[in-house]
Amino acid sequence: NRLSIADPIRTNDIMRKYKLRAKKSLGQNFLTNEKVLDDIVDASGLKKDEIAIEIGPGIGALTEKLAEVSEKVFAFEIDESLMPVLADTLQYYDNIEVINQDILKVDLDEFVKEKHLEGKTIKVVANLPYYITTPIMLNLINSDYPFQSLVLMMQKEVAQRVTANPGHREYGSLTIAVQTQMKARIDRIVGKNSFIPRPKVDSAVAVLDRLPKDQIGIEDPEFFNKLVRSSFMQKRKSLMNNLLNWLGRTDENRERIKDVFEKCGIAENARGEQVSIEQFKQMAVEFNKK
Ligand code: SAM
Repeated sequence: NRLSIADPIRTNDIMRKYKLRAKKSLGQNFLTNEKVLDDIVDASGLKKDEIAIEIGPGIGALTEKLAEVSEKVFAFEIDESLMPVLADTLQYYDNIEVINQDILKVDLDEFVKEKHLEGKTIKVVANLPYYITTPIMLNLINSDYPFQSLVLMMQKEVAQRVTANPGHREYGSLTIAVQTQMKARIDRIVGKNSFIPRPKVDSAVAVLDRLPKDQIGIEDPEFFNKLVRSSFMQKRKSLMNNLLNWLGRTDENRERIKDVFEKCGIAENARGEQVSIEQFKQMAVEFNKK
């Protein structure tokens, strides 16, 4: 009959007992809203024969909920001083392994092999440290092991960019890097009062589900990424101008780009944010033909 770790009374007790002060530099904001935690777990759809990978367990609020619904939880935490805390708060669970490592230094493909998890459904669920949201997310999306889904709490503005549609201000290279591999949606918005200490920004839970391989349709990822990055280099400029900056401002290139635009149904004065992902894929094919 103990309180959940996320209960504000228990969180405060744990912090007092271990004289913990949340480290701002590590993005430590502990979730103390049980409804939010339940929504995160629901959004993951984790089942008893599936594996959860958590990034940044903190004092274990989400970790214990994940342990209740999955076969096993592997939780990567960079902060060594939280190791004794987690050993205490998670002592009632025998299906949690806490690993004291920087997630950006973990080779996840190696890890999956080492733990003999090949063939398993592995879902990543995390209340992310916001200062490294993008590198963590892109590493997970582009890893060789196809993590089936990622349920990630992040800063609201970043979640809006990740899930944006063409024609919106938030649509850009991050949107495309994510949505070429994953179907992305916002599950819910989370206010500042759901955390101790209170963060400066609002948050959102983004759910990213992996697209089937045959829907991805990018033959040369390196070229595709260059094309996308160049297209959004100067967001206020037209796509034509951005591409000329990349390819070189010659009459020949201007004609070549015009021709590609025509084949892809892109207006000459369009901006990158008006171009759909399908059109970017088509552009990559057309440029490669020439
Ligand atoms: N999961 C807990 C919760 O929801 O209450 C804590 C979330 S807190 C926003 C982010 C956590 O990530 C912190 O515990 C922090 O120490 C950890 N962290 C920060 N940088 C990390 C890194 N590079 N690798 C692994 N964990 C990291």
